[in-house]
Amino acid sequence: MNIIMLGAQGTGKGTVAGFISQETGWPQISTGEIFRKNISHQTQLGIEADKYISKGNLVPDEITVPMVKSRLLQPDAQEGFILDGFPRTLQQAEALDEMLSEMGKKVELVVNLETPREEIIDRMMTRRVCTNPNCKETYNTKLHPPKVEGICDKCGSPLKQREDDKDPKAIERRLEIYEEKTSPLIDFYKQKGILRTETVSIAINHLGKDVASEIVADINAK
Ligand code: ADP
Ligand code: ZN
Repeated sequence: MNIIMLGAQGTGKGTVAGFISQETGWPQISTGEIFRKNISHQTQLGIEADKYISKGNLVPDEITVPMVKSRLLQPDAQEGFILDGFPRTLQQAEALDEMLSEMGKKVELVVNLETPREEIIDRMMTRRVCTNPNCKETYNTKLHPPKVEGICDKCGSPLKQREDDKDPKAIERRLEIYEEKTSPLIDFYKQKGILRTETVSIAINHLGKDVASEIVADINAK
């Protein structure tokens, strides 16, 4: 199944996508992760993308769209995929529809995560990621802490805070861009009849892993 994750930063998109991926075997394709990997290897694409990412701005479509297209053509994405972080603008959504139709495919499910604003900022500040490039597991010092502080449960590597999560200005900028550019996608996919909105919030004790298990159960029931 071809799935897209929508939702502001800090709603737990990555966590939900990772869990669905684990349960279904469909790859989680995170554009942010692909960019960060390229930045750490200092590839041409990484150096160019970092100019935008470090300020919290979107990387231009000329770079992002072809990168996603070549990833979707990989053999492991042919049975299904979970796109995490793409599309983020109406133009990207249209570019995606176009590339998928060339491949004889379409988006089948859009999972839209909503989290109260006051929880979002807190979740971004407390997010930690594994420094091992082959692992990249995500933690949260409050909601999902590692067993040993600062150390990845899965691989034992040290955890760190993402550069763009350290900078309150970059956080604000990313949330602003989400409101302005990405939230219109909610209507775009609602009109297609494939939108599923879920609230992720500690206040109602409904977290990413709960949403993910509900979705996987529904996929399996089909
Ligand atoms: P977040 O959702 O917390 O912003 P991501 O890991 O999804 O984190 O993305 C990190 C950064 O990578 C974004 O702030 C943006 O600069 C860039 N990026 C990721 N996906 C896209 C995209 N689809 N289009 C443009 N830029 C992107
Ligand atoms: Zn790890």
